[in-house]
Amino acid sequence: MAFAGNRSGKCKNMVKVPFGWVRQMADRVFHRSARSRTAGALGPAVSGSTDLAGRWLAWRQAAVRERPTALPLEKAALRVAVIAPALIIAALGGCTSTVRPGLDRRPIAITEPLDGSSRARLAYATSESASCQAWLAAAAVPFRPVADQIQSETCRVIAAGTLQNDGVRYAPPRPMMTCPLAAAVSLWRRQAVDAAALEIFGARVTQIDHLGVYACRPVNNTPGARPSAHARASAMDIAGVRLSDGRRISVKAHWSDGAAAEGRFLRRIRDGACQVFQTTLSPDYNLAHADHLHLELGEGRICR
Ligand SMILES: [Zn+2]
Repeated sequence: MAFAGNRSGKCKNMVKVPFGWVRQMADRVFHRSARSRTAGALGPAVSGSTDLAGRWLAWRQAAVRERPTALPLEKAALRVAVIAPALIIAALGGCTSTVRPGLDRRPIAITEPLDGSSRARLAYATSESASCQAWLAAAAVPFRPVADQIQSETCRVIAAGTLQNDGVRYAPPRPMMTCPLAAAVSLWRRQAVDAAALEIFGARVTQIDHLGVYACRPVNNTPGARPSAHARASAMDIAGVRLSDGRRISVKAHWSDGAAAEGRFLRRIRDGACQVFQTTLSPDYNLAHADHLHLELGEGRICR
């Protein structure tokens, strides 16, 4: 697992490159070139000299005599002196930018509004089974662990549990999912769905309608495709929500009208999901998602 602050191998190479280049240039200017040129122009007596200043002057004269249009050595040395530090600074700057964002270790509470750091912070907080369950307990999210289920090589549910009603119903009830998914769904529901419902409709969320979590199948039900995150109970398909004013909002019925309150609400909760999940797919992605939002934890990053 990658953590914040790790530097990539590329970064090490970036540091090596300018030093290697500087050494090579210095060698070329002060040693190798001088040796090869002085050996021919001045003979072994000078080329074997240990007097650096004398060798420099001798070689300088020979170099000018041989190639009057060549880059003056002082200028070449000056270029090395100026360019090398700049390259080193650029390389180090590049290293800073290549530090992988990794997982932000700062604690995250379920009461915190979503921002650009939410996904990484929640991922770190729930990366271990014990810490994940502790996070859910601290957040007052009822989660009942279930026994591991291994259906096949690719379909297995490890360290999962059922998400219970916590003032908001899930329909169908008690969906089984991994602990990190339960944490992500809970954070998203409170900080994106509840907030959007209150702001746009002045109502509370009473129910989350979903199309399921665990399903032993490949991606898009395509034979031969890689196993879906649903095969690990690590993705949830959200069909819509019901509000305290009796309103029912569904992706299938309301997504198409993005200007209507329902359409704006659905886009708000889709965008909020992108702050929590690695993969968030809506009807904007493809026809296979015309009636739900696919919220998935795992690798990669898709928000559409
Ligand atoms: Zn899905």
